[in-house]
Amino acid sequence: MPNTSRHDRLAAAIDARRDDLIALTQDLIRIPTVNPPGEAYLEICEYVQRRLAKSGYTTQLVRAEGTPGDSDRYPRWNLVARREGGGRGDTVHFNSHHDVVETGSGWTFDPFGAELKDGRIYGRGTCDMKGGLASSIIAAEAFAEVFPQFDGAIEISATADEETGGFGGVAYLAKQGFFTPERVQHVIIPEPLNKERICLGHRGVWWAEIETKGRIAHGSMPFLGDSAIRHMGAVIARMEDELFPALAQRTTAMPVVPPQARQSTLNINSLHGGQPEPEDGFDGFPAPVVAHSARMIIDRRYLIEESPEAVRQEMIDLLETVKSERPEFRYEVRDLWTIPPTMTAKDSPVVTAVASAISSVLGLAPEYVVSPGTYDQKHIDRIGRMHNCIAYGPGILDLAHQPDEYVGVDDMLDAAKVMALTLDALVGQGRVQ
Ligand SMILES: [Zn+2]
Repeated sequence: MPNTSRHDRLAAAIDARRDDLIALTQDLIRIPTVNPPGEAYLEICEYVQRRLAKSGYTTQLVRAEGTPGDSDRYPRWNLVARREGGGRGDTVHFNSHHDVVETGSGWTFDPFGAELKDGRIYGRGTCDMKGGLASSIIAAEAFAEVFPQFDGAIEISATADEETGGFGGVAYLAKQGFFTPERVQHVIIPEPLNKERICLGHRGVWWAEIETKGRIAHGSMPFLGDSAIRHMGAVIARMEDELFPALAQRTTAMPVVPPQARQSTLNINSLHGGQPEPEDGFDGFPAPVVAHSARMIIDRRYLIEESPEAVRQEMIDLLETVKSERPEFRYEVRDLWTIPPTMTAKDSPVVTAVASAISSVLGLAPEYVVSPGTYDQKHIDRIGRMHNCIAYGPGILDLAHQPDEYVGVDDMLDAAKVMALTLDALVGQGRVQ
């Protein structure tokens, strides 16, 4: 258990920053970093850079040149900041993405107004995840004020493009060596998972395109051709009869939230067969032809108990079964991308530090969860080879990407206290004799 007086000093330093935390969050929200296309990335990186430079950080602006979406009009900018303590020790890194999704409709607040009302700040990105970024900055500043000679280093990054895969953000930085276990020993990603939860990782992903092939003929004489759409229909029927029920049966040790996602899932993202959709403005009739091609994009999310090879093979087996029943059936499977599942062990140093900080600040046992979808941990895990990584942040998960998204000021303060106590556990000066 943390020493009470250290806890109290850190908590008091964070409470004293309440107005600062609100103003910082509001400033971040008012920079509309909408992605796609990736607006105002340099502006937000420079804002965070100015802030952290004043707090004794060495800062680095990194443009992910040549990554998807990067252009002179929409450069993919990232900020990495580092502050050394007074002694040797580990490095703790807080990584937040600075991009937000489009606003969509249904707002009653100005999405970039950052209005404070009844203890909540409203706006796009408040919950996902500028509130988390602000909390980590306040936590690190308060910690360094109370214990300026801490043992080790603190890093804070604001990175691009998480909402579109993170290739111009954490993936790029990981390739540049920013997340190796030699450089960074603990990573916390303040994504909005609720302040009493520790997110250990995420399920795996396999995206692929399945194409069924046929033979074109006149639509009035379909017996002279071979319909790729009917073949695809047979594939979907087989999925309905066998694959979906089988996936629903698969259980896992991963504590995925929501619980409905605690199984393997398959989504058919899109389906197209036959002639292309007519261009806008064309109001003529389609031609009578038998479809020679049908394509489906699948989004398969899988569990730590499954291997990527087995996940792929299961789909191939299904297609082969259909093939054995339909004489002219031909198909092709094109892999689009794949990310293995990841789950940080509960006894990892960053997990135990955050868990005891949650107990200490909130007076309750943490809930351990796994995300149904991926986030930037995938790149830190796979490219960076850094496995002592979790997501922990103040926002309420269900509010992400919604209209009237908000973050609670008290939730941010609590999360900042958890982060500061975590820093004390991992790099606190004089803690380990
Ligand atoms: Zn996010």
